[in-house]
Amino acid sequence: MVAVSGGKDSVALLHILVKIEKVFPKACLCAVTVDEGVRGYRDEALNFAIGNCRKLGINHVVTSFKELYSYSLDEIVKMTLEKGESGKGLTPCAYCGVLRRRALNLAARKAGVDKLATAHNLDDEAQTMLLNILHGDALRIARVKPVLAEVHPKFVQRVKPLCEVPEKEIALYAYLKRIEFQSVPCPYAPTALRSDIRVMLNRMEEKHAGIKFTLIKSVERIRPGLEAVAEEVKLQDCRECGEPTVGEICKPCQMLRKLDIR
Ligand code: SF4
Repeated sequence: MVAVSGGKDSVALLHILVKIEKVFPKACLCAVTVDEGVRGYRDEALNFAIGNCRKLGINHVVTSFKELYSYSLDEIVKMTLEKGESGKGLTPCAYCGVLRRRALNLAARKAGVDKLATAHNLDDEAQTMLLNILHGDALRIARVKPVLAEVHPKFVQRVKPLCEVPEKEIALYAYLKRIEFQSVPCPYAPTALRSDIRVMLNRMEEKHAGIKFTLIKSVERIRPGLEAVAEEVKLQDCRECGEPTVGEICKPCQMLRKLDIR
């Protein structure tokens, strides 16, 4: 199953995987889109996702925050502002990332697939490495890999086939292939620390070509050391929803609880 947002990376990945799949008749490909509920942004992206899947003849599942959590991201953001949660470091992207990961896993599990491919590119990966360090969670780097470990039967294994491809090259591929995708950025993106890291890394890349790739390669070299000191994560069922989690209550339930949604 391919996670298709409707942006250039995920749509390009879908086109590439469809091409590859033809050589492997036993493989079966489908797609999923999570509609977070961002007015004027996701609705347009969703149309690009639907259009591309239709054109390629791919089974496509659409799931949404509203359907899963009863509220859209816009509504959640409004609630965080009213409750003052946004001042505690919980940006719209913090909610979006956690709730979308859960939504993708639920959709992949329901579809019975054995891999969930996401379109994280080299730029995303380099940003994530720095984000983990800046969030004080350096050991998390050990878990951010091109093929994520299978840690629990309820988690569909995630793979990132484009994680060594620079964003600009994917954009070029999409333009050359005349692939239709959404190019408008999410209105919440500038609120996230990731956005500042993106600007910083892009500036550095302009002056020192190849720096993002060097960062990823450096992390690969220290990963075995990090894996050796990182404690093995013990998962148990969330007391509220039954999904696997490290504590008693999973992150999505904690977030929704804070907003009195659960
Ligand atoms: Fe979600 Fe943030 Fe991405 Fe917008 S920029 S889709 S809020 S993670």
